[in-house]
Amino acid sequence: MSTDTPGSQSSLHRANLERVLRAVRMAGSLTQAEIARGTGLSAATVSNIVRELKESGTVVVADTSAGGRRARSVSLSGDAGIVVGIDFGHTHLRVAVGNLAHRVLAEESSPMDVDVSAAQGFERAEAMVERLLAEAGFRSDKVIGVGLGVPGPIDVETGALGSTAILPGWTGIAPGRELAERLGLPVHVDNDANLGALGELVWGAGRGLGDLAYIKVASGVGAGLVVNGQIYRGPGGTAGEIGHITLDEAGPVCRCGNRGCLETFVGSRYLLNLLTPTLGTGLTLPRVVELAQEGDLGCRRVIADAGRQIGTGVATLCNLLNPRRVILGGDLAEAGELVLAPIRDSVARYAIPSAARQLSVVPGTLGGRAEVLGALALVMSEAGDSSALAVARS
Ligand SMILES: [Zn+2]
Repeated sequence: MSTDTPGSQSSLHRANLERVLRAVRMAGSLTQAEIARGTGLSAATVSNIVRELKESGTVVVADTSAGGRRARSVSLSGDAGIVVGIDFGHTHLRVAVGNLAHRVLAEESSPMDVDVSAAQGFERAEAMVERLLAEAGFRSDKVIGVGLGVPGPIDVETGALGSTAILPGWTGIAPGRELAERLGLPVHVDNDANLGALGELVWGAGRGLGDLAYIKVASGVGAGLVVNGQIYRGPGGTAGEIGHITLDEAGPVCRCGNRGCLETFVGSRYLLNLLTPTLGTGLTLPRVVELAQEGDLGCRRVIADAGRQIGTGVATLCNLLNPRRVILGGDLAEAGELVLAPIRDSVARYAIPSAARQLSVVPGTLGGRAEVLGALALVMSEAGDSSALAVARS
């Protein structure tokens, strides 16, 4: 921590330096003109700061061309620090190791039983992190932070998983604290929908945008909201619980205790129940998507109906937040136009025309990697800039 007096010359310089670093960290690489535009700093200030960061080994500067003119692109140095992402899903555990230059150096996914205890889950994550760091050729003292994704809301005050989490044995556990103790590293935690939003913002279908919503439809339904380039969480951390918008007061009982929530019309277990009478048990959502793509009429109908219901939720979101883009993720997104077209129809029907006109609804481009890459992006977004500098100077 700096001990500068607020408003002093050196604390102002420090704040400017952090603004430049954050902009580059989130974008991967920017020209000096883009940094000036994005941070509101003058070209001369940006130029001075970039020179300083280059001398300390924190950034690398390369010649490039922007709009036919010569320009200099600034990106973080590959050894300015390592970030680790861990994604606990309903049925999988994924870990990735990357650097601040946005390169993924090692990545691994393994199936995980939903009934696994939290302790077992952490043990496996710890072993995977150690293995992947070794594979990437780094020791853990180069790691500036770990991003951790969990499939459920995190209580902002206690850091514990809420009771509506998808992993039944994990309620009341504070996964960030547990993992930080095991790994001896700072851990930043967020839910899977927020991480999917960050992943697509930094690496996927949302690159270059400031405002978007990422909607994940899998076992549950959640949204990650990006407002002005940052995740909007709300004071209690529950912003984006789009799955619990009420569509039918007399509808099926939801795991949140309400009735007729969006999730009870489009969550995987509800969709699978609709198809069990005709297709039998043992069905999975990826299999339903595959059958729909092969032309199975029942599966196509169920997916289209789900799309219409999701579109009702998206229309509400669109009216409230006016995002530029809605990115669909999760298993159902693999159905492509079979689900996207009905979503767009509902948005056209229920959103106010001016908000609907500006909105595009697209599939995510990262698939099942969105959350683990978002966990890397979470560290880039949350870690203090001083840590990056300290690593670069050590
Ligand atoms: Zn609900």
